[in-house]
Amino acid sequence: CGIVGYIGQPSLLDQHSSLDVLMEGLKRLEYRGYDSAGVAVVTDGAVEHRKKAGKLANLTAELESRPVPVASVGIGHTRWATHGGPTDLNAHPHLADGDQLSVIHNGIIENFAELKKELLANGVAFRSETDTEVAAALLGHIYRHEGGQDLTKSMQLVSQRLEGAFTLLAVHADHPDRVVASRKNSPLVVGLGEGENFLGSDVSGFIDFTRRAVELEQDQVVTITADSVEITDFFGNPAQGKEFTVDWDA
Ligand code: GLU
Repeated sequence: CGIVGYIGQPSLLDQHSSLDVLMEGLKRLEYRGYDSAGVAVVTDGAVEHRKKAGKLANLTAELESRPVPVASVGIGHTRWATHGGPTDLNAHPHLADGDQLSVIHNGIIENFAELKKELLANGVAFRSETDTEVAAALLGHIYRHEGGQDLTKSMQLVSQRLEGAFTLLAVHADHPDRVVASRKNSPLVVGLGEGENFLGSDVSGFIDFTRRAVELEQDQVVTITADSVEITDFFGNPAQGKEFTVDWDA
C-alpha cells in the first residue's frame, strides 16, 4: 500500500543511510493503511531484508534486534494484503534469483496463477502465497534468460507480461548502483535530490528530503542511480514524466 526507494552517493552517509530515508518515508506513508512492513538494502554484493506483519513498530523492533548494514541503496514497503494473509512470510520484500533480487509491489497481479504454473514447471520454488512473489520470480527468471542480466531491460520485459495493477520496485546484489521501478494502474513518483534520488507511491515517501518530483505516467519504467533518472516505456523507448515542485507544508 506504500512504497519507497532510495539511492544516494556514499558521501551522503554521514547525513542519512538508505534505512533512515526508507523508515522516514514509511512513517509518512502510514496514513494509507497497512498490515505488514519490510525493507531491503544492498551492500557488498548482497541484499539484506527484514519484514514483519503488523505495525511499523514491529519492523523497527526487528531491525533493532537484527540490524542491517549501513547502505546507500534500498527499498521499503507497507502491505495491504490481497493475496495471502498478513504474515511475516507474505510481507514484502520478496526474494528471487538465488536471493540476490529483492522486489516490492503495490497492487494486484491478475494473471499470477497462470504465471505461477509456468514458473513451477520451470522448477522455481515459492515461499509465500502472494501474487507479488510470482512477479519477483518471473523478473528473476527473465533477468537470467531473455533479460541478459540487465535489470532495467528485465523490468521492461516483465512489465509486458504482468496484467492488473502494479507499482514494482527492484534491487539486485549485482547492481548496487540502481533501483529499477515500473508502474501500471498504480502510482509512482520520483524525488529528485542532489547526489541522491528517491521513489515513492506519493511525495510523502520522500518529502523530508526533497520537494522536486517527477510523476511517472502510465506504463513506464524508471531507473534511478545517485545522479540520474532514466524513464522508458515498457518497450525501452525513452519517455518522460511530469516534473513538479511540492509546495504544501509537510
Ligand atoms: N497484492 C500484493 C499482496 O497482497 C500487494 C498488496 C499491496 O498493495 O500492498 O501482497
